[in-house]
Amino acid sequence: MNIGIVGLGLIGGSLGLDLRSQGHHISGVSRKQETCQRAIERGAVDDASTSLSLMERAEVVFICTPLGVMRSTVAALIPHLAPETVLTDVGSVKGWVVEEIAPLWANFVGGHPMAGTAESGIEAALPNLFVNAPYVLTPIASTPARATQLVEEIVRPLQVQIYHCQPEEHDRAVAWISHLPVMVSASLIAACLGESSPAVLEMAKSLASSGFRDTSRVGGGNPELGMMMATYNRSALVRSLHAYREILNQFIHWIEQENWVALEQALQHTRQARPAFTDQGSPCQSGQASSFSQP
Ligand code: NAP
Repeated sequence: MNIGIVGLGLIGGSLGLDLRSQGHHISGVSRKQETCQRAIERGAVDDASTSLSLMERAEVVFICTPLGVMRSTVAALIPHLAPETVLTDVGSVKGWVVEEIAPLWANFVGGHPMAGTAESGIEAALPNLFVNAPYVLTPIASTPARATQLVEEIVRPLQVQIYHCQPEEHDRAVAWISHLPVMVSASLIAACLGESSPAVLEMAKSLASSGFRDTSRVGGGNPELGMMMATYNRSALVRSLHAYREILNQFIHWIEQENWVALEQALQHTRQARPAFTDQGSPCQSGQASSFSQP
């Protein structure tokens, strides 16, 4: 199949490497000429250009740019597409993307391969990045079934676990497990820095070990990522932050009141609940997509 990828970075380049190895012909478009050149050298694409006209023969196009330029990229891409071309994206937020792009192109289905590394750009692209990772598709009522099926057929051989859900459900779910943790972790670091005694603060830095390393990791990452989450998933993130603040207040109350029974019950409950979040999900049945709300 002729597949197009726009945005040859970590995700676009990794998709290119894997889809090429499945025998597809991959054409890539990126902003910089040197990125196009490196994508060809690395085997992520068969041909590449900085011009969107390269997408004219593509049957399916994956939009893999940063979220902020997705809408303008699709608007610029449309004059080069055949009407039956299926468009999909890989953005980490779905409500905003689907709202912006679905009205522009009928054959569009939102997608989110949930794999990545801390690196970015074409040099960071990796083969087999998506193996065993969830790949969420977010068709809406107006999405043609053929568009969803075609994207599924293309990504399933990458050994992903396919899920379907509404864009808003996706955004609420990732707010809980990805976006809220970044804000909580960043708040933790900021709170520690508020220690009034310089001597205690220095001591805390010296004593910090694996527990602090685990809980501060995502809050000490690339600020661009946190800004992206807050900007494009604002309402779901604010909703989960408010809920988190309520729970935190509850914990403060129990400790102030020395309500050790309630505190212990809560800690027992969270210990039991954690594996359901952290253990691997079950792989999708062959030929069928898992679903939060039945597809
Ligand atoms: P990335 O490594 O920075 O790659 C994005 C690439 O897009 C850049 O390398 C850049 O290439 C190109 N680009 C920028 N503006 C462009 C434009 N106007 N037209 C064409 N190409 C353009 O970022 P990424 O991590 O792959 O993220 C890409 C998308 O995947 C984002 O929407 C993100 O939400 C989503 N995502 C990311 C992860 C993750 O963990 N990183 C996971 C899942 C989904 P040049 O070198 O040519 O400028």
